[in-house]
Amino acid sequence: MDTVWILGDQLHPDVSSLDGRTPDDTRILLVESRTKLASKRWHRQRAHLVITSMRRFGHELAARGFEVDHRRAESLRSGLHDHVDDHVPDRVVAMEPASAAGLALLHDEGVTTTRNTHFTCHWEDFAAWAGDRRGLRMEDFYRWQRRRLDILMDGDEPAGGRWNFDDQNREPPPTDGRSWPVPVQSDLDDVDRAVLADLDDMGADATWGADPTGIWPTSRRRALARLRHAVDEVLPRFGAHQDAMIGGEPFLAHTLLSPALNLGMLTPLEVCEAVEDAHRDGRVPINAAEGFIRQVIGWREYVWGLYWLHRDEFLAANAMDARRPLPPVLAGRADTDMACVADTMTSVHDHSYAHHIQRLMVLGNLALLSGVEPRAMVDWMWSSFVDGAEWVMLPNVVGMALYADGGIMATKPYAAGGNYIDRMSDHCGDCRYDRRARTGDDACPFTTMYWDFLARHRERLSDNHRLGRQLANLDRLSDLDAVRARAREVLAALDEGTL
Ligand code: SF4
Repeated sequence: MDTVWILGDQLHPDVSSLDGRTPDDTRILLVESRTKLASKRWHRQRAHLVITSMRRFGHELAARGFEVDHRRAESLRSGLHDHVDDHVPDRVVAMEPASAAGLALLHDEGVTTTRNTHFTCHWEDFAAWAGDRRGLRMEDFYRWQRRRLDILMDGDEPAGGRWNFDDQNREPPPTDGRSWPVPVQSDLDDVDRAVLADLDDMGADATWGADPTGIWPTSRRRALARLRHAVDEVLPRFGAHQDAMIGGEPFLAHTLLSPALNLGMLTPLEVCEAVEDAHRDGRVPINAAEGFIRQVIGWREYVWGLYWLHRDEFLAANAMDARRPLPPVLAGRADTDMACVADTMTSVHDHSYAHHIQRLMVLGNLALLSGVEPRAMVDWMWSSFVDGAEWVMLPNVVGMALYADGGIMATKPYAAGGNYIDRMSDHCGDCRYDRRARTGDDACPFTTMYWDFLARHRERLSDNHRLGRQLANLDRLSDLDAVRARAREVLAALDEGTL
């Protein structure tokens, strides 16, 4: 009898480790690790999602007739050892995990691995694509993916005649007062409540954030219901306003499928095929379908591939020499008068979620401009977001948000002042700060810090041709000394949690 060890982000009935297996030849192992749970101050909804989903998946496999050994152990390793001692399997088999540390553990323990099929591009395929290319452009990777996976293609040509509809997808928030899709919610049941009680037993400070509201799916059946809702109700309204931010509207027309994808409940291919079918049926416009598919087989897989190719560099990277500890407002321990940050942090507290522009241009921008130490930011985002994982956060935070990799991912830092946030949101009108001012007590902290950031890194960034216009504008500032003096006050207030 073999054991198939299902890891916590491999919760799909067709996981490759279960290929061809039956209850007659296979026993299932699931391990909840107390060390992993204690390793970070997880958002309650993140911890709840993973543990509840694992328990439900164990119940589903038991209902299919498998004997399921679901252990709560000190560590993954000790859970495996205890299982092997108790059951003496012929072999332990697992699908390749999503983390390099996980893969090293499986190899170290002599676990037989099957190929990771929860991504469309295995890390070996990504490395072959990367080859000795000088720059690893996401756009090149994405087109290669579209062609080889035959997604949204008309023969050799992209559907709709273009690869990219971004120019239609950067609209500011609509002002017509329209309503947005309401997320699917499931009632919490005894499984949910047992997990929450276990989290409570860890102590009040072990987790943070609001209790789950049932929007994040904890089984494949529930994930499939969210996929249907996303395709029918959400995606037709995605697209044009995908980069917009509206106060009190954390979800807008985002599909909210990333947690289910990242726990393996949905596969990227089935999700993209459902979206393509809806587009071909005339239910989802091309700019929304392409914009969504770009996120899944483009960005998501590109980040995954970069993680495996450059993990060690990302772990060590700090090209902007950023040393600031995580500010209290990002740790959820301080209120702020910055309306954009307050709204984003409310969403993170209430839902363990913020959409991609809130992550990049509000939270990431705040960390970039103020110089938050990359690993502190990675760890916080990994533990705070419902779809967090090392492979997601390491490249996205280190490379994309903080430019700490020196340009592996992004060709320039995504630094922005209050003008960008004002254009893409409705926050600035209600804010106590003035997004146009860069000095004085009412100056928008983003605007002040933006100029201070450019001035601080003037030398380091001077060779970056994409920043030529911004650096020329910096050189024309007549009040730079006053801006930098105000920046020192802003950064001190950020550290104190009084901004
Ligand atoms: Fe954010 Fe500045 Fe706008 Fe306030 S004024 S909402 S701090 S960008």
